[in-house]
Amino acid sequence: MDYFARAAQLQDQMVTIRRDFHQHPELGFQEHRTSSMMAESLAAMGYNVQTGIAKTGVVAFLEGAHDGPTIILRCDMDALPIQEMSDAPYRSQEDGCMHACGHDGHMAIALATAQILAEQREQMHGNVRLVCQPGEEGHGGMLRMIDDGLLEMEPEADIALGLHLWSPLKVGTVGIAAGATMSGSSVFRIKVQGKGGHAAMPHTTIDPVACAGQLITALHTIVGRKMNAMDGAVILSVTGVQTSTNTHNIIPETVEITGTFRTFNAYTSELLEQHVRDVSRSVCQSVGCTADVHVRHLTIPTVNDKEVVHRVKAVFSKMLNAEQIIDRPHTMASDDFSYVLDEIPGVYFFVGISNDERGINFSHHHPRFDMDEDALTMGAGLLSAATAAYILPNTV
Ligand SMILES: [Zn+2]
Ligand SMILES: [Zn+2]
Repeated sequence: MDYFARAAQLQDQMVTIRRDFHQHPELGFQEHRTSSMMAESLAAMGYNVQTGIAKTGVVAFLEGAHDGPTIILRCDMDALPIQEMSDAPYRSQEDGCMHACGHDGHMAIALATAQILAEQREQMHGNVRLVCQPGEEGHGGMLRMIDDGLLEMEPEADIALGLHLWSPLKVGTVGIAAGATMSGSSVFRIKVQGKGGHAAMPHTTIDPVACAGQLITALHTIVGRKMNAMDGAVILSVTGVQTSTNTHNIIPETVEITGTFRTFNAYTSELLEQHVRDVSRSVCQSVGCTADVHVRHLTIPTVNDKEVVHRVKAVFSKMLNAEQIIDRPHTMASDDFSYVLDEIPGVYFFVGISNDERGINFSHHHPRFDMDEDALTMGAGLLSAATAAYILPNTV
C-alpha cells in the first residue's frame, strides 16, 4: 500500500481538523473540547474509546482481526499560555492561549493514521492503542496517564511510536536516530537564607544578595568545571532570582534562585543534582548563609530503541530519498513520551515543518510559530507505514 498516497487523500481533512484545533486551543488538563472531539472521531472509526484517563486523556483501542503485537501511537493535545501574533484566518480565538508547539498538527496526523489503520482492520495481525495525552507542556500528563494504568492495559503494548512536528527541520525531511534523542529536564529552587537589615549597616546583616551573586557564578561553572565532557551535552541555566523584599534600603532576609538543567542520561542528572546541592551548601556556608535546595525531575531523557529505529528507518528509506532522512542530532528540548519509551521499546521521530520561502521558520513556543501543513501528509504517511511494519507486514 502507498501510505503517502492514502495520507495525501486525507490532507484536506487533516488541514481542517488542525485549523479547528488551532482556533480553539486549551491548556494542559483543560483539553475538554479537544479530547471530546478526539474521542468522538475515534469512536466513529470503530475504536474502543476510554476517556477521563489523567483527567482529560483519551485511550482508543483497535483490535485487529488476527493476533499480533499491540502498538501504542501517541499524540499530545495541550496548547501554551502564549498570545498568538498572526494574521492567519485560523489564528487562535482564545486570548493568551495558542498551539505554539504543533500539538494541533499531531492530533490531525493521529486521526488520519487511526483512520488509515482502521480501514485495514481485517488484515491486521495485531492491535493499535492510540494515546491522546493531556498536559505535555511541563504538566506531567504522561506520568499521570501511567499512574492511571496506561501501561498495564491489556493486551500490554509491545512497541510505542510517536512523532513531533519539528521547526528546526525543513518540510519534506524526517529526523530519526537511535539512543537518547531528547534531553531529560530538571528544575531547581535554592532558597538562600541570610539575616536582613538596614542597607546602610551591612555589617549587622548576613547579606543573602551578595551570597546569591557568588552562588549564581558558582552554579554556572558546574557544567564547565565539574562535568565530564564525554558524558554528553549538558546545560545548566539560572533563570530567576527573587529577593524577599525589593527596595533600595533593606537587605532582604532571603533570596530564591531558580533554574533548570538538562542531560541525556540518568547518571549525569544525578551527578548534576549532587553538584548543585554541594555548591549551594558550601558557597552559602562560606558567608554565613544557609541553603535550602529543592530539585524536581520533570522528564527523563527520550531514548529510542536501536532495533525499532532500524526497522522504522528501513520503512522510511523505501518511502523517501536518502537526503530526506536525517540522522538527527540531539535536542535539549524534552518530552514526557520519554516515560513510555523507558518501559516499552519504541521510537520518537521528528517531522520537518519549516519553509523559509513561505516565511514559516519561527521556533516552537514563539508567538508566530506555524507549520507548513504539507508536513501533515508526511507525518500521517510515515506514522501509518511505521505501524504497518509491525501489524500489516505485507503492506509496506
Ligand atoms: Zn512544546
Ligand atoms: Zn511539543
